[in-house]
Amino acid sequence: MNLGDLYRELIVDHNRSPRNFGRLDPASHEAEGFNPLCGDKLHLYLDVTDDRIADIRFEGSGCAISTASASLMTDAVRGKTTAEADALFARMRALLKGDDTADSESLGKLAALGGVRAFPSRIKCANLCWHALHEALHGGITTTTE
Ligand code: ZN
Repeated sequence: MNLGDLYRELIVDHNRSPRNFGRLDPASHEAEGFNPLCGDKLHLYLDVTDDRIADIRFEGSGCAISTASASLMTDAVRGKTTAEADALFARMRALLKGDDTADSESLGKLAALGGVRAFPSRIKCANLCWHALHEALHGGITTTTE
């Protein structure tokens, strides 16, 4: 299966049945994301305990790519330390920018999101949840600058 097929299959699957969808109450960290170009809205909830992401959920409405990306992201960072989540965020940014230094093999399913590069106007859809994650953990960065 090539990356294009994998990309389409994952987007369809995770959009149809998003993982970790819902509210987390109480949440230790939260952030909102909004992509005005597409209308994607996202609210991210995290439970960070001892610097580890014990639980993560999201709510919102958006296109298939933004929903699938949030679903894949929450699966990927659950159980990781905040430093590991930061490292993954940096790698996803590189992947979505088309930076070849990204070692996409080791990204697993997330690598399939690199397929969004074929549709430049949708990169913000895929990035939205990652910027929300960064904002939830660190604050101070808008979710719509890239
Ligand atoms: Zn979108």
